[in-house]
Amino acid sequence: RKEGNTYVKLDSSLRSPVCCVLGHVDAGKTSILDRIRRSRVAAGEAGGITQQIAATLVSIEDIAAETVSINRSHNFTLKIPGILVIDTPGHESFSNLRTRGSTLCDVAILVVDIHSGLQMQTIESIKLLQSKRAPFVIALNKVDRVYGWKSVTNSPFKDSLKVQTEEVVQEFEKKMEAVIAELAMQQVNAVPYYKNKDFRKCPAIVPTSAVTGEGIPDLLLLLPLLSQKFLGDRITKRDTVECNVLEVKVQDGVGSTLDVLLLNGSLNRGDKVMLCTLNGAITTKIQTILESSNMKSTSGVQRIEGAIGARLICKGAEKTLAGTELHVIGPKTNEVELKKKARRDIDSVTNFCNRPVDHVEAELETATSYLSSGSNGGVHVQASSLGSLEALLDFLKVSDIPVGSIGIGDPNKKDVMKSSNGYKCMLLFDVHISNPLRKIAEDSGVTIIAADVIYHLCDEFRQLMRTRQMTGEEQRGIYPFIATVMEEYVMKKADPIIIGMHVDGYLRVGAPLVVPRQGQAWLNIGTVGAIRRLDSPAPMTSVQDALVLIKIDPPKDKTGRTVIFGRDFTALDQIYPKLKSPNDIATDARMQNLGTKEEKAWLRKFMKVYGFLVKEE
Ligand code: GDP
Repeated sequence: RKEGNTYVKLDSSLRSPVCCVLGHVDAGKTSILDRIRRSRVAAGEAGGITQQIAATLVSIEDIAAETVSINRSHNFTLKIPGILVIDTPGHESFSNLRTRGSTLCDVAILVVDIHSGLQMQTIESIKLLQSKRAPFVIALNKVDRVYGWKSVTNSPFKDSLKVQTEEVVQEFEKKMEAVIAELAMQQVNAVPYYKNKDFRKCPAIVPTSAVTGEGIPDLLLLLPLLSQKFLGDRITKRDTVECNVLEVKVQDGVGSTLDVLLLNGSLNRGDKVMLCTLNGAITTKIQTILESSNMKSTSGVQRIEGAIGARLICKGAEKTLAGTELHVIGPKTNEVELKKKARRDIDSVTNFCNRPVDHVEAELETATSYLSSGSNGGVHVQASSLGSLEALLDFLKVSDIPVGSIGIGDPNKKDVMKSSNGYKCMLLFDVHISNPLRKIAEDSGVTIIAADVIYHLCDEFRQLMRTRQMTGEEQRGIYPFIATVMEEYVMKKADPIIIGMHVDGYLRVGAPLVVPRQGQAWLNIGTVGAIRRLDSPAPMTSVQDALVLIKIDPPKDKTGRTVIFGRDFTALDQIYPKLKSPNDIATDARMQNLGTKEEKAWLRKFMKVYGFLVKEE
């Protein structure tokens, strides 16, 4: 430890950078965090976890001690006071580090399992990091599982690589190259840190093993190095208080506690503060400040200075929204202005939900709502904090799942009642629903989907929609399709018409066909009498996305005149199903439309061309 200290020369103008860990489930986020914190929470017992505050300061002395051997060759002077790591890995906690459009996370660690490569949540995390312009390093984890790997416990990666056989090195490099290629597809030009010439443009890869500790010294040295080199202004201490609420808990016998991240400035016991709740801004007092190094003392500390994580006990703070700012009210503070500011913070969530949809989208909304009677079609979404709600809404938006209503915190009866509109479905993220409420939901036909991983919610929701469709008590309807005539397959031009068509969508025997006509009544060309695929002689009752021969039974007018191909319509015309209103579209097609982005895009195209309301002849 003494030796480690020779590399430390604190610069009192700098604060500790805030560091988040993101990545896919099982990539090793918790294990990496534990290695960095030197605690054993992952293996840990409940007792350890309850003591946990939302952020832990890893002191620079500890970092110096851990990196002493690798730093012998770098001779790098550590100046920051430490690294403040956010204790809950994952993009939900990253999202709670919100500050007006940007993030409080100074540097992130993206954990990628070298054997699995990029997975769902890795990609989600990359998008999130890119959208918030957060610099990150990539921990390419589980190198100890490369076939034939000889582990050297806690060693710098290069020392570890030296003892491997040539085959093992090749195997490792092959795997790393594959991940680099996958990252490139996400616009990430990742380079192994020991070859990286431009850390600003190219995120560094650090091969690690959270189990053997290999590569962890490299990671621990790289974080301060990058922070000191590139974060200069960002991590220069400021006097103004910048404090965010990360988690809100109600603790037995203590009352409501707030886990906060104090980035800059200081907080004192007794300070008057303003907090954001879903019902508006409230003012209260800081009764107690608990700090992680000092959790045993119930009286806590008198004062803390940023950057640090702490737990605050404040009266009446239980409705505080995680992810919002805590403001200190001093003698000179303009409380009215501050309240407005707090209000804006709160509104940013509500507005998030009322996002505008254009005309087509709005109609599509009608067509896709499971129960057209629902007042505001969509799912009810409920999450534990503002940040996680935002992250969830973002993801639902990308997945094209319409949101009808929202809530924060554990759901109550009102929330269940809200969910009985629209899709009759509640998506619960990281919140608890009581058994009596479950019963109420069940009685009102509301399905509850609860999960701790965002994309599991989306998957389960789609699954639910498919199941509902299959067991469906829904009416039959007409399936959307767009068909074009293949001139080389015109077999018979009139009564009946037999032509080859390319069908985009779902066509059934009996479907009524029309040809759109600009500015006049659409031409009714008859109903589908028979279908067979071009590549098979067997008759079909329905086809999807296929080349077909169809028989059309055309209508006759009073004079006996019928529709003739070549005279009344030609190969230049597109053929659509005859629809009077969006409700004519088969319900399972509407459901299917929820299935994937492609399907939805297809239906949107269909409806756009269709103009939705078919002109009556
Ligand atoms: P998280 O879901 O991303 O937080 O992943 P965890 O840290 O919980 O790790 C998931 C599993 O992978 C656990 O069984 C870990 O012991 C294991 N694991 C994590 N890192 C490594 C590693 O570097 N090497 C090996 N062999 N196993 C690892």
